[in-house]
Amino acid sequence: MRKIIHIDMDSFFASVEQRDFPEHVGKALVVGHRGPRSVVAAASYEARKYGIFSAMPMSTALQKCPHLIVMPHRFDAYTEVSRNIRNIFHEYTDLVEPLSLDEAYLDVTDAKKGPASASLIAKEIKNEIKKRVGLIASAGVSYNKFLAKIASDMDKPDGFFLIKPADAESFLEDLDIGLFYGVGKKTEEKMHKMNIFKGRDLKLLTRPELIQHFGKAGIYFYDVVRGIDERSVVSFRERKSIGAERTYETDIFDIDEIKEKLTEVINIMWQRCEAKQMIGKTITMKLRFADFTTITRSNTHNQIFTKEKIKITLIDLLPNEEIKERGVRLLGATMSHFKSENKQDQKQLKIDFDFNEFD
Ligand SMILES: [Mg+2]
Repeated sequence: MRKIIHIDMDSFFASVEQRDFPEHVGKALVVGHRGPRSVVAAASYEARKYGIFSAMPMSTALQKCPHLIVMPHRFDAYTEVSRNIRNIFHEYTDLVEPLSLDEAYLDVTDAKKGPASASLIAKEIKNEIKKRVGLIASAGVSYNKFLAKIASDMDKPDGFFLIKPADAESFLEDLDIGLFYGVGKKTEEKMHKMNIFKGRDLKLLTRPELIQHFGKAGIYFYDVVRGIDERSVVSFRERKSIGAERTYETDIFDIDEIKEKLTEVINIMWQRCEAKQMIGKTITMKLRFADFTTITRSNTHNQIFTKEKIKITLIDLLPNEEIKERGVRLLGATMSHFKSENKQDQKQLKIDFDFNEFD
């Protein structure tokens, strides 16, 4: 069972403005500008009490609250906060997948530090963010991304919400369909017309029926309403390269043996790439001679590599004469320059989500 946390900053842009301009704390404030076609990018909780929400036309917001404070965007400030909170996340796990500047999934199944319980880690991270960044976050904890994401929304602001595996299905049966991650306004309307209001209603439809009505997203809806979401938390930092290397007990001078050993290393690297469903455009060979001098040789392809293509390419790059003279003690192969990231996640991204990005 995995332990997944979703962290979401509360009213992010507006909170950064209130932090940096304390005279606006406790006041109705939005981020945006006063132009005729302008919309609200973010609203403070005080502004929300006036019925002001993100994506609302600025003119409407000003009608609802004439003394509304309108602050211009400061993307540099938001990006800096984003970097700081990600650094905190990475202290706990390497598996951090940002969804936007102020949101990320963390897989803390094998956390690097902190308590054993994911709930306690989530609370600790919330505290660290408050202490070091001066902002409030909400956290959702569960055993997959879908549930953790929904959980972080359940108790906002300054929220903490845990969905235990045993409670997931009944929780989802009672949940309004509009609160399912991936069900936006249009899909919600469509589902309401089909008499689907709660998770329990969605569960009555078969897989083929859902595919018929919602296409690929139907497969997703069928799974998630049953608490199933196998998508892994994929860290962008981890995506830079995947490789394998082997050090040999005795130095190798024989070219045929080197080819054989290189093939083994490539096979291991390829298995790792396949496991992550990531195939890159650049392949690099590392070769350490008996005297510890190390060379690398790379080749970049425009089309996707196959395992056979990698073998042919790297064997072709072997410095045969040098190997015969100097002997080899280490061989490595690395794939990088990933074109398509995790295929499963890409598939997921293609689902037509029409939710509001700023919420
Ligand atoms: Mg947020």
